[in-house]
Amino acid sequence: MMTTFNDIFKDAGNKITGIAAAPGLVIAKAYKYIKEELEVNGQKIINIKQALSDLDEAIARSKKELKKILNLARDIMGDKRAIIFEAQMMILDDPILLGTIKRRIEYEKMLPEFIVDDEISKYQKLMLKAHEGYMSERAHDIEDIKNRIIRNLQNKRWISKITHDVIVVSDTLTPSDTILFSRSDTKGFVTDRGGLTSHAAIISRSLNIPAVVGTHNSTLLINDGDELIVDGFHGCILVNPTKKQRNFYNTKIKHLKELQKNLIELKDKKAETTDGKIIELLANVDVTGEIDIAKTTGAQGIGLYRSEQILAEMGDLASEEEQAEIYNKLASRMYPQMVTIRALDIGGDKFNFSEISEPNPFLGLRGIRLLLANESLFKSQIRAVLRASKNKNIQFMLPMVSSLLEVRESKKLIDECKKELKKAKKEFDNNIKIGIMIEVPSSALLAKEFADEVDFLSIGTNDLIQYLVAVDRGNDLVSDLYREFHPAVLRTLKIIVDGGKTSNKNVSICGEMAAETLAIPLLIGLGLETLSLSPATIPYIKKIIRSISYSKSKKLADECLTYKTSDEIKARIEKFFVDNSIKRTRNII
Ligand code: PEP
Ligand code: MG
Repeated sequence: MMTTFNDIFKDAGNKITGIAAAPGLVIAKAYKYIKEELEVNGQKIINIKQALSDLDEAIARSKKELKKILNLARDIMGDKRAIIFEAQMMILDDPILLGTIKRRIEYEKMLPEFIVDDEISKYQKLMLKAHEGYMSERAHDIEDIKNRIIRNLQNKRWISKITHDVIVVSDTLTPSDTILFSRSDTKGFVTDRGGLTSHAAIISRSLNIPAVVGTHNSTLLINDGDELIVDGFHGCILVNPTKKQRNFYNTKIKHLKELQKNLIELKDKKAETTDGKIIELLANVDVTGEIDIAKTTGAQGIGLYRSEQILAEMGDLASEEEQAEIYNKLASRMYPQMVTIRALDIGGDKFNFSEISEPNPFLGLRGIRLLLANESLFKSQIRAVLRASKNKNIQFMLPMVSSLLEVRESKKLIDECKKELKKAKKEFDNNIKIGIMIEVPSSALLAKEFADEVDFLSIGTNDLIQYLVAVDRGNDLVSDLYREFHPAVLRTLKIIVDGGKTSNKNVSICGEMAAETLAIPLLIGLGLETLSLSPATIPYIKKIIRSISYSKSKKLADECLTYKTSDEIKARIEKFFVDNSIKRTRNII
């Protein structure tokens, strides 16, 4: 019998699990990267002048080091991603921060490293306190710059020696660590801390280095030189693998290489069913690097540009000018293909800027609600999107819509922005298409009424499922109940697709369900003709589409709509794959 992933992992005592942060498979030796703890003491000093000049020198040296890293980052990741380091440079140039540090050295007569530590830590604490997730990741970036100055004040070196071709195992990795390691052909990253938005994760994804983060205790369980298997698809690590585990992964790695080669060959082929139905495959873009992947994998446009990602990359809200430039570049890179820019979906679990802590953030001030409550923020984004639309290849999409009033209110603001731009003699697409995400049950039920008032609908199953079955999409305790194949999900999808069609409006799907191989015949059978998915998965999904028939998929969907449990539906689709000898390519990995 063929060994499966489950066989390998089920009882493996040498397994560590974490978050699958960057896809890929790798087998290599571990290099434990433990940073020397920098000790700072509050010793009194006599020579203030010397202390101030030591500080200036340490700042200058830190700048020089960062500049090198910045150049390196630009080379390997492009200007956009390198912004992380520009932000660090700006801290080194911040006159208020440096002025305070110098004044305190003069008054308090303490070692400069003590004052630097104390002063910058204040910023960090504020960030950690004010915001969860995203902001705490940014607090780690500040830690990086703080330690760099202290290390330079103490004349210590940073990384002594980096061995090549290793998997770096560390408690946490700063952006500069990640860049420096990647330069020496690092094969993978494993960290105890950090989530999907940590810079180690973002950088690994854009450099195609497999990474598993948030493992909690890998630095305790792994020794320097241990052999590791890092599975960046499943978020697993095997320490000193058995022969069986190594053989299993060697075969997977071989398959993966062949698969990637074959799939790239599909790039210019249509996503067409065996009976001639053409499906449009678009890309979801979360990080700028994915635009390149969208190009290489043959996406036909961008179906979801999560504009809140700019926040992740810039570390701050972008001004109208900055946004207009970003959207302009994006539109020209993709021209003549269409780019769907989604209005900032902040709030909920994503970048909560509000000082108010909400008891139920997922049901709170999120998406369109937050935008309508912050009109100037919303309008600056609308104007930026309009300004980038002059070549007519941009459409604008509203997230988390739950009532028609929100659509009408947004359209009113869009009209106001158009008037403002006209007055300022700025060019834009006056007929820009406005659509909405359907990710709340109330808007699903009213799909037809919404479709009457907008140009397109896009189904966000990630949220739709969580709201439909009342299961927090990020909560492990109830993850078993989060079911894509729940009969209520299927029937809701049908209502949306039919509603859009009755109004002659395009309906697409941009939730993760569109990248689930098993769901493809079902979605196509339900009548969806546009799927938007993470660009790396496009070839896998195209391959499935090219091996199924639309008429059979329609029968399958009709039958599944009569079932009462998700298990029945899943079993029926699995049977469909077997009966039609369709390989679920992506699951080879
Ligand atoms: C969704 O909810 O399905 C979706 C695409 O939006 P996000 O995952 O960004 O919430
Ligand atoms: Mg959503």
